[in-house]
Amino acid sequence: MAMEKDCVFCRIAAGEIPADRVYEDADNIVFKDIKPAAPVHLLAIPRRHVAKLSDCGEGEGELLAGLLLAAGRAAKAQRLGDFRLIVNNGIGAGQTVFHLHAHILAGARMSEKLL
Ligand code: 5GP
Ligand code: ZN
Repeated sequence: MAMEKDCVFCRIAAGEIPADRVYEDADNIVFKDIKPAAPVHLLAIPRRHVAKLSDCGEGEGELLAGLLLAAGRAAKAQRLGDFRLIVNNGIGAGQTVFHLHAHILAGARMSEKLL
């Protein structure tokens, strides 16, 4: 498994940094965001290090499909009901952790439409 030693999400995946995990499978982990921006705020990450969505190509097709499936399964397991997925791609879009992740947001504020 590709692991970047200075990547906080690789370190979470490796168990070196604790995280409140709510779902995991062979290729993905879903855990609570340390600084929630919504009543429910989870992060879905692939175990394999990929810096950002725009770095992905044909070879990452399965990884991306698996990440979306994991996000949906985690939301179902957590009985979130309706939720929103957000992927920030690049500094200009607000990405601060350069290990691909999807934010899963749910709760009261999700009734406000952002887009
Ligand atoms: P980005 O801004 O890159 O789209 O999202 C990164 C997210 O990771 C932020 O919402 C931030 O709160 C969260 N985060 C950063 N470091 C940690 C950490 O060590 N543990 C957890 N659980 N979340 C983190
Ligand atoms: Zn990483």
